[in-house]
Amino acid sequence: MSLTRQEQLRAWDHAHVWHPFTPQVEWSESDPLVIDRGEGVYLYDTEGRRYLDGVGSLWCNVHGHRHPKLDQALIDQIGKVAHSTLLGVTHAPAIDLARKLVELAPEGLTRVFYSDDGATAVEVALKMAFQYWRQKSEPEPGRNYFLAFGGAYHGDTLGDVSLGGVDRFHTMFEPLLFPTVLRAASPYCYRCPLGLTRPSCATACLDEVDRLLEAHRGQVAAVIVEPLVQGAAGMIVHPAGYLAGLRDLTRRHGTFLIADEVAVGFGKTGSLFASNKEGVTPDFLCLAKGLTGGYLPLAATLTTEEVYSAFYGTAAAGKTFYHGHTFAGNPLGAAVALASLQVFEDEQTIERLGPKIDRLASKLATLADLPYVGDIRQQGLIAGIELVEDKSTRRSFPWESQVGARVCRAARKFGLLIRPLGDVIVIMPPLAIEADELDWMIDVITTCLREVLMPEVEVGS
Ligand SMILES: *Cc1c(COP(=O)(O)O)cnc(C)c1O
Repeated sequence: MSLTRQEQLRAWDHAHVWHPFTPQVEWSESDPLVIDRGEGVYLYDTEGRRYLDGVGSLWCNVHGHRHPKLDQALIDQIGKVAHSTLLGVTHAPAIDLARKLVELAPEGLTRVFYSDDGATAVEVALKMAFQYWRQKSEPEPGRNYFLAFGGAYHGDTLGDVSLGGVDRFHTMFEPLLFPTVLRAASPYCYRCPLGLTRPSCATACLDEVDRLLEAHRGQVAAVIVEPLVQGAAGMIVHPAGYLAGLRDLTRRHGTFLIADEVAVGFGKTGSLFASNKEGVTPDFLCLAKGLTGGYLPLAATLTTEEVYSAFYGTAAAGKTFYHGHTFAGNPLGAAVALASLQVFEDEQTIERLGPKIDRLASKLATLADLPYVGDIRQQGLIAGIELVEDKSTRRSFPWESQVGARVCRAARKFGLLIRPLGDVIVIMPPLAIEADELDWMIDVITTCLREVLMPEVEVGS
């Protein structure tokens, strides 16, 4: 009996491919969806079925798949060289991209350190901040602490996991993590840790950050935050003014602010960088996922002349930043990132987002009265729909019921590809999505919520 190519791929996947963040029993019992190609905001499987890429291939894709200008930039670059190192030599794509990033980033970020993933972009910021305090003109070697937030997610390497606040991902590794992390509660307004409500709370949660920085005066190397939206925690949208408040506090206490814009950078929140929204220049800006338009792994950590100056020395001076990743600043990645930034200009991508964001907001509002829809939060084209067992007490479903996963699985048969975070349904499509496609996504999600949670109600009635 001979297997078809599709059957063969599925069997070999189950035999050999260990998937990230994936419970293996459920996976091994599932019929894997095998993606074959993409076009615009759609992906196609090996049987030719079409799926709207509702989470932008995991928060990466910006201008759609197979954008002609991005594809052409790769073709042009591969005709020259696919990879050459930044250790001891340099190349035009990395240089041109660094200039462009400095031009577009919040004012004052003038130095670009390349790596290859979000996790590495954050590791670089951590190590740079740490080393900076030890070799600035008047060293402050006691600054060993980082302040991070509840539910924080900054990547999966052990340094980043030390900052992480997602118990399910991070608790296991506790014995290996560095202990010098101060934890402030997340500004998760739906479940306010202080029991307050907006806007009368006056963002009182910032006071805790203030107190921690005060109690650890001279010990904090940096505060690290996912600006505006905490992604992996469940698309927790921070209250307006929170980021600017953090910037004020870090300035006042004389410590650094690291903005991890790995998820929220490149237009997802409605402006090119989330930090722009509150007029903030962080001391470190971490970029990855959308940097290449979601095409290739490339990351960058931007910082200031002030930070750079503390590393400016001869080999003998011992100020060198001894850190690097083999594929840092890869020419193909840099070329496609440049093309992506050009497309932002040519297609006025940011300028055209306003109506889409409004459309998403009004469409999401139609879900508010459905049973089990506890909270709907949105920032730009990012949204999270938090499902709860009891709306009045905001009690969550038991983890085992996997409600979020079931809703997302149901969406697949309608041709919508989405992936939840626990019981939060995530919406994070490519910016290239059209308003009617957003409407359609929400309609499918509504149908699937009914199907999974209210099976007694006729679908469509
Ligand atoms: C995805 C993500 C990371 C990690 O990026 P990788 O490319 O997966 O290593 C870091 N920080 C945030 C906020 C993220 O969403």
